[in-house]
Amino acid sequence: MAKHQFQAEIGQLLKLMTHSLYSNKEIFIRELISNASDAIDKFNYLHLTDERFKSQDWKGKITIALDETDGSLTIGDNGIGMNEADLISHLGTIAKSGTKSFLENLTGDAQKDSNLIGQFGVGFYAVFMVSDSVDVITKKAGEDTAYKFSTDGTGEFDISEVTKDEHGTVIYIKLRDDEKEFLKKYRTKEIIKKYSNHIAYPIMLNYFEDETDEESKESKSVRKSEQANVATALWTVSKSELKKEDYIEFYKTLSHGDDEPLEYLHNKVEGSHEFTTLFYIPKKAPMDLYRADYQSGVKLYVKRVFITDDDKELLPTYLRFMRGIIDSEDLPLNVSREILQENRILANIRQSTTKKILQTIKKFSTQKMEIFTKEYNRVIKEGIFQDHTNKELLLEIVRYKSSSVDGMVSLDDYMSRGDSEKKSIYYIVGENEQLLKNSPLLEAYNKASIEVLVMDDKEVDEIVTPAIGEFKGWKFQDITATDAPESKSVEEKEKLNEEFKSLTDKIKAVLGDEIKEVKTTTRLTLSPSCILKDSSDPMASMAYLFRQMGQEVPATPMILEINPEHEMIIKMNNLNDESTFSDVAWILLDSAKISEGIDVSDKIAFAQRVARVATKAI
Ligand code: ADP
Repeated sequence: MAKHQFQAEIGQLLKLMTHSLYSNKEIFIRELISNASDAIDKFNYLHLTDERFKSQDWKGKITIALDETDGSLTIGDNGIGMNEADLISHLGTIAKSGTKSFLENLTGDAQKDSNLIGQFGVGFYAVFMVSDSVDVITKKAGEDTAYKFSTDGTGEFDISEVTKDEHGTVIYIKLRDDEKEFLKKYRTKEIIKKYSNHIAYPIMLNYFEDETDEESKESKSVRKSEQANVATALWTVSKSELKKEDYIEFYKTLSHGDDEPLEYLHNKVEGSHEFTTLFYIPKKAPMDLYRADYQSGVKLYVKRVFITDDDKELLPTYLRFMRGIIDSEDLPLNVSREILQENRILANIRQSTTKKILQTIKKFSTQKMEIFTKEYNRVIKEGIFQDHTNKELLLEIVRYKSSSVDGMVSLDDYMSRGDSEKKSIYYIVGENEQLLKNSPLLEAYNKASIEVLVMDDKEVDEIVTPAIGEFKGWKFQDITATDAPESKSVEEKEKLNEEFKSLTDKIKAVLGDEIKEVKTTTRLTLSPSCILKDSSDPMASMAYLFRQMGQEVPATPMILEINPEHEMIIKMNNLNDESTFSDVAWILLDSAKISEGIDVSDKIAFAQRVARVATKAI
């Protein structure tokens, strides 16, 4: 017998399981059945495709045995089983990034943490909600040695060799004294029906029942067995026979969680390719949504035989939050990973499924859309960038903040309020909503009652938005790279430029290389100055390419614009005190930077200048 230590994170998980979770303990049965079903799925595939197992007389089956005398619940399957290395790596460590991020999110507050667990299943470890002592006896298909994995739910587990005839796994759970309700047949049957009715394999419930012997009239305990579930894969049942609850419970099994989905879509496609899909949009984004090693949530079946659950190509990457099943009638059973990658049938399924999903989202009620936007707006933007075929649909789904209304607006909303002659979608990108909304660059637009989309998801927006180009004939226009709406004629503007030429030259002389150019502007009403990237500089258009290649963007030259109608500028034009002029010129630049969220490099000098000028003013 060999002693092993659980990985530290599991220790943490076990403690949480035993001490913090009081509600909904029954889900441990659902979790173990789901593991058993996965293990049978895997062997089922071998049975159909692998010469070593083809001749074996086998039918997948799950057995749950209740023993009140012993106080134990045992769940067995005749699936793929585990060898010693599997036991150590699957049950002794946590490899999944989702579980890791779950643990990182734990707060230590029992109430909050158990809610978290509700959104996130922890599989096998759920047994520790009801038990302190668990034995897993298992034999891997095609191997000779069977193993017993035992743990008392503290930091260690033992593995020893044992004998077992058939491949598969048996989990023996000694229930804690206050958890004996799970030994009652009616209770366990109800739980199986609730969560696992549509697991594709029969779940046999074994129990003891008292019976009176006809002859001796003595009562004795007799072992009985009955099938507790209907054992048809849910997605193969016709829609008309399924109720909303059926879909929801199946989702809980699939997602190992307790949340209801935001939406489900069940489709049977007939014709040149036949396939069935059952998809769910989770109400909360999976925790690994933004991790490079996220787990795929889509399982591929071929004629009800499970093929894979870690093919990330089944849907476009931006739909990686989707959970569900694709079951194809046309793919060969022994599809290899390489074949999957370039398979035309699969590409077809992917294409039509993506469209269906996006169309469903597009038709969401306002309330559903709000939830969806909160969780997934950012991945939809990824989609706009990646998926040219569905760009139009994605642009109908994406939402943005706006300078003229609260909340999130659609592009259609925006266009319905916009100028249908000009057909421009104005936007500004930055990191902070409040800064953006108060940006001096918006002043002229606000004055002219022109709505501007406020994009504060900078990392994504500054790559995605310039790449959009047009939507329904409307052009996207970055307001930092376009002229402001005109309130003055060309002649008037030239006259102003002339009038202030000596001032702008003088300011430029003070600021030197800090700024490429100083010029007058008509885009401001309230502020004396603003700062902009020089959109005529080749660097400005190349910045987009740099970002696309994931490279650091070289600094683009900046232009300082001053508002000739602002009192500060008018007074500056007549100022003869050189040192105050220099202070004010720097303040103009630095405060324009602050308004745009740009760091002022010498903050102390800035504070000193403000102090000097203020002292004079008092
Ligand atoms: P999950 O099922 O979400 O992967 P679990 O913690 O429940 O997480 O299980 C971890 C792993 O242990 C499974 O992915 C599987 O490889 C293995 N496992 C669990 N139960 C069984 C079983 N009954 N038969 C074979 N392997 C199993």
